[in-house]
Amino acid sequence: MKKIIYFIIAATIVGGLWSQVHALNDNASGKPDTSASAPASPELSTPSASPSEPIEVEEPEASAPESTPTPTPEEKPSGKPSEPSEPSEPSKPPKPSKPSKPSPNDDYDFGQIISPDDLPAMTIEHKGGIDVITNPKSLYVLANKKRNLPSDYVPPDLVVPDVPFSFSGDSPKKKMRKAAADALESLFQAAKDDGIELKAVSGYRSYATQKAIFTANAEKKGEDVANKTSARPGQSEHQTGLAMDISSASVGYALEETFAKTKEGKWLAAHAADHGFIIRFLKGKEKITGYSYEPWHVRYVGRDVAKEIARQKITLEEYMDEAAEVIAR
Ligand SMILES: [Zn+2]
Repeated sequence: MKKIIYFIIAATIVGGLWSQVHALNDNASGKPDTSASAPASPELSTPSASPSEPIEVEEPEASAPESTPTPTPEEKPSGKPSEPSEPSEPSKPPKPSKPSKPSPNDDYDFGQIISPDDLPAMTIEHKGGIDVITNPKSLYVLANKKRNLPSDYVPPDLVVPDVPFSFSGDSPKKKMRKAAADALESLFQAAKDDGIELKAVSGYRSYATQKAIFTANAEKKGEDVANKTSARPGQSEHQTGLAMDISSASVGYALEETFAKTKEGKWLAAHAADHGFIIRFLKGKEKITGYSYEPWHVRYVGRDVAKEIARQKITLEEYMDEAAEVIAR
């Protein structure tokens, strides 16, 4: 008999609790705003405090309300309505923000500028164990560690641009191809007009000279370092007569990364493209170009190409990939 009475009492208690829980849930989901503005007050729950309560008071926003044991009725309403959505936020997959892939300007007509005969795939032949460029005379020639200039290539129209140099006397280093030399003069004049004093440091370099430089570097620093900081013979843009190293008195005419921080280096980066030059070896693009960042090394590609490359902040390699893609369509 006692057992039956106990059972009835127990059933009544359980039933009562059950309905409380339901009322709670309805309250929490149905009208969340009523108590949302009221700051969570720990005092409310103290009368029926259970060991787990301090935790709930301390981290009302962080943990899911479902995980709490069904405790006091006073606590639930103090939960903020935004709670259910908050725990789910961390589990949201992070936005697939693609690494800003360069996008060609829709109005930009690669076909008008780059001929199919200039595309990288069309301008290479395998010769003597290496890939040799077949269009070294093109203003759009792409020379890099994978694409060697012919060892006997000498640009046909080398001249000395009328710009200030960091050294005096005659030297092949002063030379560039005519189109590049003219553009360099216009670049230096624009700099001067803006009160910026640039000096040309190193232009054309023959295959033989490059070979001597690389060998000396490799002996001094080891071949690995030499390969990152100087070109192997046949792989230097300086052999094309389209490149010039530029520096300023503020860094003692050194060719080093600090040039980028000088007002001359900043000016050069901002205005080179207006005159048909690109900063050839960009920061962050070392894997693509194969070279460390060289804020001093400009390469002539003509204004159309230079401006698009500067706009997209890409390398000549990437530009050519885009050109190939567009022209192939
Ligand atoms: Zn250079």
